Amino acid sequence: MKLKSLFEEKKTVFSFEIFPPKKTSSIQTIYDTLDALSGLSPDFISVTYGAGGNPADRSTVQIASTIKHKYNIEPLAHLTCVNSTHEHIGLILDDLRQNGIENILALRGDINPNIPPQTDYRYACDLIRELNTCGEFDLAAACYPEGHPECPNMEDDILHLKQKVDAGATHLISQLFFDNNDFYNFLYRVREAGIMVPIEAGIMPVTNRKQIERMVSLCGASLPKKFVKIMHRYGDDPAAMQDAGIAYAVEQIVDLISNGVQGIHLYTMNNPLIAHRISQSVASLIRCSNH
Ligand code: FAD
Repeated sequence: MKLKSLFEEKKTVFSFEIFPPKKTSSIQTIYDTLDALSGLSPDFISVTYGAGGNPADRSTVQIASTIKHKYNIEPLAHLTCVNSTHEHIGLILDDLRQNGIENILALRGDINPNIPPQTDYRYACDLIRELNTCGEFDLAAACYPEGHPECPNMEDDILHLKQKVDAGATHLISQLFFDNNDFYNFLYRVREAGIMVPIEAGIMPVTNRKQIERMVSLCGASLPKKFVKIMHRYGDDPAAMQDAGIAYAVEQIVDLISNGVQGIHLYTMNNPLIAHRISQSVASLIRCSNH
């Protein structure tokens, strides 16, 4: 099923993101995670893709295929282009086709200062344009409520986002954020700019101090005072920090759904217990919004 039709059917979509296990871990770990996540009946599950763009690494496609064929849940395969050639991308598309995967989150990927990028694709919109011409895949793209860290201003970032939608992206998934007002302001500006496709809010439950420090340095999300207080108060107590992080994410989601957001994309960090607690807390809200 193409995700475009899911957004036509449902008022509020609820989806998960997972990542392939590190090379040092067994692939079995992700199947245990999927066993647990599938019981939560998300509308789709997205699987990240290494920005290295190694065409020999089939883990994203393999996991997406398992999600589709073993669990009967729609997968969304991430695909980055910054370190890929047209030939690499062609091989991955063949693999996706052979596995019946119809949905791709088309990304540029982060530029690694130690690896000179390939030159076939400069931005995600180049990949989206190319994928759209083959007409077989439904395409999603990333968006940034606080602006992409490399872009000097929000106006330009939104213009670049519009290029991705004009090139064929039918739905957007946001970077994580901790202040819903950032998301609402962004939505207002994006709609003003004529971007009308569904936008899912990316929510990451922050359950330990290290995770948040790494995330913030990677994606530049700002931390509201309320959140910083929680971190200072509970950061050294793992159980308390986990409870507080889950409660914070649930509060964000309740507010977003009440304000009519079209989708919640939960960054599960491959932790089914946390995904379970959050899903349980908001399941009736999502059901109610879809009635
Ligand atoms: P782009 O849309 O190409 O934008 C990158 C930068 O270029 C922005 O600053 C933009 O404003 C600018 N730009 C775009 N077009 C132009 C133009 N025409 N002229 C000038 N500037 C322009 N990374 C991974 O490696 N693997 C993943 O699986 C992955 N999944 C992600 C999922 C989500 C939901 C999100 C939000 C991010 C994900 N990322 C992933 C991270 C992402 O790859 C990085 O944020 C990357 O730096 C930007 O990717 P993009 O597709 O948004 O790039």
